[in-house]
Amino acid sequence: MKFEAHLKETVVLDPKNKTTRAIPSEIRKDPLTGRTSRICHFMKLKWEKPDFEKMTAGTEKICPFCPDKVLSITPYFTEELIPEGRLVSGDMVLFPNIAPYDNLGAVATFGSRHYIPMTEITPELIVKGFQLAFEFFKRVENSKHPESVYHIINWNYMPASGSSLIHPHLQVFSTSSAPNLMRQELEAAKEYYKANGTNFWDDLVKSEESEKKRFLGRTGRTAWLSSYAPIGVAGDVLAVVDSVNSTLGLTEKDLSDIALGLTRAMAAYDRMGIYSFNMNFFTGAKGDDFTRFHLLFSPRTFFNQALGTPDVGALRNLFNETLCMAFPEDIRDMLSPDFNF
Ligand SMILES: [Zn+2]
Repeated sequence: MKFEAHLKETVVLDPKNKTTRAIPSEIRKDPLTGRTSRICHFMKLKWEKPDFEKMTAGTEKICPFCPDKVLSITPYFTEELIPEGRLVSGDMVLFPNIAPYDNLGAVATFGSRHYIPMTEITPELIVKGFQLAFEFFKRVENSKHPESVYHIINWNYMPASGSSLIHPHLQVFSTSSAPNLMRQELEAAKEYYKANGTNFWDDLVKSEESEKKRFLGRTGRTAWLSSYAPIGVAGDVLAVVDSVNSTLGLTEKDLSDIALGLTRAMAAYDRMGIYSFNMNFFTGAKGDDFTRFHLLFSPRTFFNQALGTPDVGALRNLFNETLCMAFPEDIRDMLSPDFNF
């Protein structure tokens, strides 16, 4: 596996004594797509947690996902897809996304509790939420819907991640239109397979597991890594599932293994004062043997917490160039105590 990096150095003069100071940075290439990620702007990965009680106070009153409203204001699916209108599991509810960005979009709540602190999200809760989403995917698949190609779960947790609500929920959708990065990865993995005769993701996991520099651990057939070229400013946790190409190939055991690792990532980032994240599924279509199901857990925080400055600026928003404020190998060391399975 080729891990390319372009090392750079900025030299500045001290305003008083004119002595020079060299500031290093590094441009890394994602080994699959060639997407670049800058390791720079080094700082201690430590943020102040806000007063959550103050932050969330009163938000339940206008929350559409709270139990007094969710069943009266959220819409139904059409009868052909889900005859009972919504999918319900205990106090979790899955219903159509009223802000759809594709044909078949749903939102699944994590139950009746309005605010769940990140460290109180248990593997069991995640598994239950995933199972509800999978019930939706199975209905879509069984209906032979033309959009039943890529089955995706996205998770924006807390406002800094892009979530407009405190109430924890998943974005669940099935689509024939692969989103940008997922499509680029699929195209690149297909090319890699053609050129090398092997699966990129299998090769990556093998290489990272033997090199150890970014390898975090394993839960069953899921390998956990600190990404070489992260998207998040505090790195990304990448989970790759052996032998699985698409979402519907995941077993119940895989879902438990994934959920356990996710809670460990949450615990580790919580210690840095981070309390918000994005998580996306990256899946192939059925039969895409050149790829492997993987997911990215990307912590979200602020460039200036006091001002509420988001961790996405012009570089990232318009160039889609990412920056990470610590070396992924050091981030691995910070996360690894939680990944001792
Ligand atoms: Zn709520």
